[in-house]
Order: sequence, then structure tokens, then C-alpha cells
Amino acid sequence: MSNCLFCKIINNEIETDFVYEDDKVVVFEDINPQAPVHILIVPKEHKENIMALKKDEFDIIAHIHKVAVKMAKKYDIYDEGFRLVNNNKEKAGQTVFHIHYHLLGGRVMQWPPG
Ligand code: 5GP
Ligand code: ZN
Repeated sequence: MSNCLFCKIINNEIETDFVYEDDKVVVFEDINPQAPVHILIVPKEHKENIMALKKDEFDIIAHIHKVAVKMAKKYDIYDEGFRLVNNNKEKAGQTVFHIHYHLLGGRVMQWPPG
């Protein structure tokens, strides 16, 4: 999608270091980290949010979770624990309208979230 920030990052129109990439996702560090580890796992295919996925398109979500576990190992937060967050629509705090999961770790997390 031409005016989507994350599509521009995926297409290398905005230079960003990928800490992981495969045929389905890219992973990069959040520009405004909310924890010592704060990375974004982003599917290469543009979809606004998880409600935009058709019934047979949800395999990407399992894949994102698998990548999250891999990244937790890479960033050494696998043993102590981490949080995986996906905001959908404005009221939930979504600001970039291309599916992404935040992987947060390296500090104690509060509950309930803000
Ligand atoms: P959301 O609020 O939609 O759940 O998450 C969007 C995330 O993207 C925010 O945490 C924000 O800091 C991050 N972000 C926004 N613009 C950029 C950017 O240009 N580069 C990177 N690496 N992260 C960004
Ligand atoms: Zn996009």
C-alpha cells in the first residue's frame, strides 16, 4: 500500500535495519521503545488489522507467534518472560494501520495495561 509507513519500511523506501526477515515477515526495533527490548513483527502483506484477514489467512498469526518466540531467544528474554501486543483500531492504541505485533521485554510489566 503506497502511503503505508510499514509498507515503505518493508519495501526499503524508508531505511530500517531488519533484525530478522523471512518470506512472510520483517522484524525491526521500535523507533520509540517502551521497554529495554521493544521490537515489531510485521507481515510483509499489507492488512490494516487482524479483522481484515479472511478465514483462511490466519496462518500468518501463528507464524508471527513462532517468530516472537525465536526473537525472545535472540534478545535473551525467553526465560524471564515477555509481552506480545497487537493493537487493533484507534481506541486500542493502533497508530500504524498495517498489522504488527509488539514484542516487549527486559523489565517488569504492569497489568492492567493503560
Ligand atoms: P501501534 O501504536 O500502531 O500499535 O504501534 C506503532 C509503533 O510503530 C509505535 O510503537 C511506534 O513507535 C512505531 N513506529 C512509528 N513510526 C516508526 C518508524 O518510522 N520506525 C520504527 N522503527 N518504528 C516506528
Ligand atoms: Zn502496509
